[in-house]
Amino acid sequence: MAHPKTEQTLVIVKPDGIQRALIGEIMKRYERLGLKLVALKMLVPTEAMIEQHYLLDPDWKKNVGEKAIASYEKKGETPPSKDPIAVADLVVARLKKYMTSGPVIAMVWEGAHAVELVRKITGGTEPRSAGVGTIRGDFVLDSYQMADGDERAIRNLIHASGSVPEARKEIPHWFSPAEITSYRAPHEATLYDADISSILA
Ligand code: ADP
Ligand code: MG
Repeated sequence: MAHPKTEQTLVIVKPDGIQRALIGEIMKRYERLGLKLVALKMLVPTEAMIEQHYLLDPDWKKNVGEKAIASYEKKGETPPSKDPIAVADLVVARLKKYMTSGPVIAMVWEGAHAVELVRKITGGTEPRSAGVGTIRGDFVLDSYQMADGDERAIRNLIHASGSVPEARKEIPHWFSPAEITSYRAPHEATLYDADISSILA
């Protein structure tokens, strides 16, 4: 079995993250945790790339729809539709517009529990309810209500893979194997080496 430190996750700084000049702030969060950047590029995605990206996981539509409906119900409000798939179809159309509106930065971060930890630091989908201290909770204020009212996607600065299987599908969608670098960073010894007996001279 591969060592846990080889786990990889896809992060995309969305167009609003670049417009808000938050690239460095966002990258700093993952970097200071101890994760290692192994791939990076800036591009303006096509609508086809975005549609394919979100439909890589066959359950995504159902999940995204159910999450939106639950958020309305939690606040005692009525969702725009009770049908998760209808909600998801609208979200895909709106995401195509949002994600192709300007350049994005796609990255692969590597390290132990990379998928789970990047999600934790990134915070929940809706910035309004995302936790204090998370990137989405601290740097942006969008909500389901505002996005629905304006018929647009929720602007939440970042995409981050939701699970290890999702990351394994998403990374090759954005990067060829040759674009992903394999290298050793000195701090990995302190994070991962079982034997630290060589510190003292
Ligand atoms: P996450 O990015 O947190 O993994 P999802 O995969 O569920 O969230 O949704 C993908 C993206 O679609 C979100 O980051 C957000 O930009 C947008 N989005 C999700 N649900 C809605 C919704 N109900 N209305 C508008 N945009 C949405
Ligand atoms: Mg997701």
